[in-house]
Amino acid sequence: MARRASVGVVARTRYGGSVTTRYRCNACGNLTRFDVVETTTVRAFYHYTVGGELTIEDPEVVSSAVESVTCRWCGHGRSVDVIDETA
Ligand SMILES: [Zn+2]
Repeated sequence: MARRASVGVVARTRYGGSVTTRYRCNACGNLTRFDVVETTTVRAFYHYTVGGELTIEDPEVVSSAVESVTCRWCGHGRSVDVIDETA
């Protein structure tokens, strides 16, 4: 459970700064609520005490892939587009 929480912190840190990927559901106009399934590979330093207690340090996202994006309101992702922020 503790390990899972740590990975979550990594993801939040990664997205906390400059978020470049945004989504829009063209069916309902939703811009803010999506269920995103993402596979993230994290490399980290596992530091155990002699007693076996684990501290995870220096987590780094090695790779990340978005598997699916579902509109929270429509319940499907058929009309969800990625917004190009540079446009
Ligand atoms: Zn929608």
